Amino acid sequence: MARRRVSIPTGDKRKNIAVYILVIAILSAFALMRGRAVTQQQKSAENAEFQVHVIDVGQGDSILVVADGHAMLIDAAESKASGTILSYLEGQGITSLDVAAATHLHADHIGGFPAVLEKFPPKKCIESDCPEGLLPTSKVYEQYLDAVEASGAEYTVMQAGDTFQLGGATVEALAPVSQDAKDLNDTSLVLRVTYQDVVCLFTGDMERGEEQELLAQGNDLHADFLKVGHHGSDTSSGEDFLAAVQPRYAAISCGIDNSYGHPAQVTLDHLSACAEQVFVTAQDGNILFLYDADTGTSQIVTRKTASK
Ligand SMILES: [Zn+2]
Repeated sequence: MARRRVSIPTGDKRKNIAVYILVIAILSAFALMRGRAVTQQQKSAENAEFQVHVIDVGQGDSILVVADGHAMLIDAAESKASGTILSYLEGQGITSLDVAAATHLHADHIGGFPAVLEKFPPKKCIESDCPEGLLPTSKVYEQYLDAVEASGAEYTVMQAGDTFQLGGATVEALAPVSQDAKDLNDTSLVLRVTYQDVVCLFTGDMERGEEQELLAQGNDLHADFLKVGHHGSDTSSGEDFLAAVQPRYAAISCGIDNSYGHPAQVTLDHLSACAEQVFVTAQDGNILFLYDADTGTSQIVTRKTASK
């Protein structure tokens, strides 16, 4: 049996068409405005000669550093975040990585590397000098090792004091400075990246023990931008360490309502006392530090991903 049609009077039909056209016009205007806003944001990020992107990967770390178009990915979060990282890199127009850096061998830092290294085979993979007794026996670590080997990248264990160039940026390993770590977190590769007159410090999951060793070295630790150690835990970011770094901006990478209670309130308080601004991926989404070499100015931009 044919469905019964409800006949609409001609006047109502005209009114419906007018409403329909109005709705389409409004939606189109919104789409256009949104497209413009996205284009402008992307343009400002693309124009910055030096960029740091703390990618919102949930609980874990993954940070993209771009200097004069040369890209380094510091950590790749857990394997479940690899889709987020791949989309982010593609969204930034990254076609290849110069460097993939593993700060240390915990799953929330190396888990996503197999997917990332397959899609973006880097020229070089770097990693911290981990004491043999602390090397993990986990499947995640095995998969990471296999992925590094399959990528064909040059593989380098960084020693404190080692440096390399990323475009116009100088990347220097500051730590670990000894083989005395009792825990994998304190084997974290601490990288200082200097571009013109800005300095950024990336500390992996370094805790107080490694901080103390680093302070004892007497290095100038001042940084404009600090990727805060160990997701803002209270076992990191001692007041003496923060006093030495004196960051202008501090960024914490952690997941919403994570089971570890990251970031700790005491750490947020210490950071707020020394930094101009403190950002947390769980609240702010992706955190971008952008340096415009022409004007010598830096800025922070935060962007929530579409799903949040
Ligand atoms: Zn971690």
